[in-house]
Amino acid sequence: MIWLNGNPPADKILNEVELRVQKFKTSNHRHIKLVVVWVGNSEASKVYTNKKAVIAKQVGMLSELIHLPETTTAVELKNLLVKLNNDPTVDGMLVQRPLPGTLELEPIHLWITPEKDVDCFHPYNLGTLMRNDPEALVSCTPKGVMALLDFYSISVAGKNACVIGRSLIVGRPMTQLLLNANATTIQVHSKSKNIEELTQIADIVVVAAGLPEYFGKKMFKKDSVVIDVGIHRSNSGKIVGDCIADELINHVSGLSPVPKGVGPMTIAVLMQNTVLCAEKRVKN
Ligand code: NAD
Repeated sequence: MIWLNGNPPADKILNEVELRVQKFKTSNHRHIKLVVVWVGNSEASKVYTNKKAVIAKQVGMLSELIHLPETTTAVELKNLLVKLNNDPTVDGMLVQRPLPGTLELEPIHLWITPEKDVDCFHPYNLGTLMRNDPEALVSCTPKGVMALLDFYSISVAGKNACVIGRSLIVGRPMTQLLLNANATTIQVHSKSKNIEELTQIADIVVVAAGLPEYFGKKMFKKDSVVIDVGIHRSNSGKIVGDCIADELINHVSGLSPVPKGVGPMTIAVLMQNTVLCAEKRVKN
């Protein structure tokens, strides 16, 4: 079995991004800028937002972290996002999830202009993905999974690919990308029955259910490739995925580790998406 380590392909993407960032600066006499909005006090969000800001700086972008209090209202958040939409110095922006209280229920996906929507929640960006538009801006984690498969020369066309999970940020765009790459796709979710009958016929399984160390050997076909998107901190403080990695080691042919699998790819693609937004905006 090979470990599908995300660091080498993520570094490759970040090196390419760094070159494009420099080229953009030379041609346009300004920096590319990413803004990350963090509302509330979730410790996990703090770690993720800081990481995004640090990597953006590493590749030569400007990055701004806007931290809003837990009590922020929908109107306040919307006003900020509209201001950022209209700010010509901002190229990409995102609101870190999860959000406190009832903010999660607000249509925030409509408040970020599609041109700067690096997380790709806007219906316009989801639509261009569905149309298989080569210029589509694509959600970071699923796009990162495709890049991971490509880096390790795992072909997708004609294969049976199963995605566990149907969230808008991972599961749904993941299935669409696999379909766009000519896989035969199966999507299972919390209401699916007899899941293992479906995962067992898949050559590639992308697991994004958000259940710590839940999926073991019996779920997967011998020699299939398993991409574990899940990330959790166990009670003992260890970072684990959705799969029981120890059970899969002598069973599957490829497995992405947690950590250092999909995680680095997500951040690298976020930077790639930000550059893409900047380049598209100056072109149009
Ligand atoms: P989510 O909670 O929004 O969605 C989980 C999905 O799993 C749902 O669609 C649900 O129907 C499905 N599901 C739940 N229980 C199931 C079961 N028993 N069988 C089959 N399907 C089931 O989560 P999400 O935002 O899609 O994230 C999924 C996981 O991936 C989480 O652990 C999250 O932390 C992780 N994640 C990691 C990265 C990364 O960069 N590594 C990025 C995004 C999300």
